[in-house]
Amino acid sequence: MATYLILLGAPGAGKGTQAERLSQTLKVPHISSGNIFRENLKNQTELGQVANRYISEGHLVPDDITIAMIKERLERPDCARGALLDGFPRTPAQAESLESILAQKGARLEVVLYIKVPQETLIHRLSGRWMCRAENHVFHEEFNPPQIAGVCDYDGSELFQREDDQKETVTERIRVYLEQTAPLINHYRQKGLLVEVDGNQSIDEVTEALMAVLSVGANR
Ligand code: ADP
Ligand code: AMP
Repeated sequence: MATYLILLGAPGAGKGTQAERLSQTLKVPHISSGNIFRENLKNQTELGQVANRYISEGHLVPDDITIAMIKERLERPDCARGALLDGFPRTPAQAESLESILAQKGARLEVVLYIKVPQETLIHRLSGRWMCRAENHVFHEEFNPPQIAGVCDYDGSELFQREDDQKETVTERIRVYLEQTAPLINHYRQKGLLVEVDGNQSIDEVTEALMAVLSVGANR
């Protein structure tokens, strides 16, 4: 049986950090819509250039573009046994499309892991975030520093700070999250799929809490 999961939470909640760890344990690919947009921008594709107009303003990329991109990604063979979605869906329309994409595959969502973090923590997390150029590994200058400043521990590539992690853009991203994405919390709660995890603890503790949820699920 394929395992499709969602990591839900505000920008800076720790979705990417936890997804790196969980996807290894669950042996399903980590699919981050933000990473796919950034890779497209790096490769100067048309999708990357269009998406960047929205990303740099802290706005969401329109649903039709985002849904088509994720649909194509989920149709690739490595997703046949499941996927861990990070940053998608972010709107009710995206959530509905995901359901039909999975239904077409004869699959369904297993669980939505909501990483809850107080708003005041988010800005501190994002302003200290560093990402690696090669494979999007995530660090924090205070909470999860690399061994050598500016260099990725895993692949040696350069670390950079995202332009959309600057304070003004972060404020807008959090506003957009509250307006367009936070309604998904209730949407999935009503469907009985939501599990809330306290994201306001150390990275290892959040991983443990998520793993505990997943192992309970496996024994059901
Ligand atoms: P998201 O993918 O939800 O936007 P990230 O996983 O990129 O969030 O995390 C945002 C920043 O916060 C990164 O710099 C990361 O190293 C750091 N971080 C993630 N989880 C924690 C945590 N539990 N405690 C402290 N810092 C964290
Ligand atoms: P992230 O890496 O998840 O923080 O995403 C970075 C940016 O990419 C977001 O601020 C949005 O502009 C865009 N983005 C990522 N995922 C989506 C999505 N599911 N829908 C719309 N825009 C998205």
